[in-house]
Amino acid sequence: MTKGRVYDFARSDDAFMMGLEFLTAEKDAAVIRERQLRTVRLNAQKGRPHGRLPYGYRRVYDESTGALLRQEIDPEKAAIITRAVDEILQGVPVNRIITRLNREGVPTPMKPLSGMSRGWMNATLVQIIRSPTVAGLRKYQGEVIGEADWPAIIPVETWEKVNRVLADKARRTRYVEEDNHSHPKWLLSFVARCGFCGRFLARVLNVVPRKNGKPRNNYVCQHIGCRRVSIDVERTDAYVLEALLSWLSTPESLAVLAGPDDDWNDRVREAEEQATTLRDRLDEAAEQYAEGKISLAMLANVEQRLTPQIEQAAREAVPPVADTAVLDLINADDIRAAWELLDLLEKRRLLKMLLDIRIEKSQLTGGIFDYSRIKIAPRFVAPETYHWRRVA
Ligand SMILES: [Zn+2]
Repeated sequence: MTKGRVYDFARSDDAFMMGLEFLTAEKDAAVIRERQLRTVRLNAQKGRPHGRLPYGYRRVYDESTGALLRQEIDPEKAAIITRAVDEILQGVPVNRIITRLNREGVPTPMKPLSGMSRGWMNATLVQIIRSPTVAGLRKYQGEVIGEADWPAIIPVETWEKVNRVLADKARRTRYVEEDNHSHPKWLLSFVARCGFCGRFLARVLNVVPRKNGKPRNNYVCQHIGCRRVSIDVERTDAYVLEALLSWLSTPESLAVLAGPDDDWNDRVREAEEQATTLRDRLDEAAEQYAEGKISLAMLANVEQRLTPQIEQAAREAVPPVADTAVLDLINADDIRAAWELLDLLEKRRLLKMLLDIRIEKSQLTGGIFDYSRIKIAPRFVAPETYHWRRVA
């Protein structure tokens, strides 16, 4: 502490300020920095708190010596974290939680620099939850190195689960206000992907006009190096919707749902490890080919065998859905009517989360709409332990 201010040594400007203030006394600011870094490292290894106070905690100091006694849970802030984690595990999108926090006027973790605070943002909350700190784990240089000497706000098992859900990109949704011009208006723009380059398709009006002068309304791959896919909006939307509703009507779709007691963490971890092992094996084969140890035909053979296995493992590694919106759809008497009641953002969210939609180039000519171009696969597979039972 210098002049009542706590310095953060990881920040270079603070290190610089520190240097200026101590230059006369210590001659060499670098010496101080080195000494401080050593303490930080030592504290990290011992699991002692250091650096900025993490959200959800408070620090208790000895009244006479001012020495740090412990870092303990701040119940009010910790409750915000635990509630958000529960909600995410129940399938609530992060931006909906953010909207709630801002509406309730919950103070943000950092004091706003000006009166014009932007409030909570997705990244703020995600950063807090992803940090090993809240699971009572200590890290050093980004790696978890063991248990910390402060209590966990979230049990490690739950923390791993919520991290897996947050890592699933298809569950991410951007918050766009109603009146924003980029508010989505189309079902599949930035949901369906190009079958060639894998990038999202965007909706474009009249990219190539029709011969009869009617405007074309298409989803298009806009990537400059590709631009190989363009497909009619209306017919694609209708086809994808039929695919979703019929899949949701099958018993298998129930398997994507996590029950409240479903301990999927180990299952998903095993699938992740399996996918990594298979990918490594493929890399190894590619290396052997590069070194001239195996032929191209052998490499192609290995790739052909491993690719479907890798895809299968990757699907098994997608955390199951615990989303009441999906459960409500599956349970609805009239699934189509229930779907129609959802707003566009929610429809897009569910489609993106549940299905992998890829559009290929048409093999047909003469203006016939080729439905076989639309490749749809559920993003989930039923775990091996799953046995279908009718829900009562
Ligand atoms: Zn493309």
